[in-house]
Amino acid sequence: MAELTDAQLDELMEAIGLTPPKNRGGSKRKPIAHGTYRGARQHYYRREPLCEECRDAERAYQAERKTKQRHGRTGYLTEEEWQARRDAKGGAQ
Ligand SMILES: [Zn+2]
Repeated sequence: MAELTDAQLDELMEAIGLTPPKNRGGSKRKPIAHGTYRGARQHYYRREPLCEECRDAERAYQAERKTKQRHGRTGYLTEEEWQARRDAKGGAQ
């Protein structure tokens, strides 16, 4: 029975579209998706400083999240929400 070396195994896995198991030395790491929020997370995960692109991307992401939250909490009620409230009170007319 032929034994495969790690390198051969890697090749084989790559050929059939599988990624090699995580516990193999960690020689290959996914490249960081710079300039995206995901990239920023990858920097954090590796405990390294964010590059400029990723810092920008993260700032933009956080800013967007903040505005969304603000709208969600203190924004005006939608038509449906008003009606739901009125219905709950049993009609305030
Ligand atoms: Zn980066």
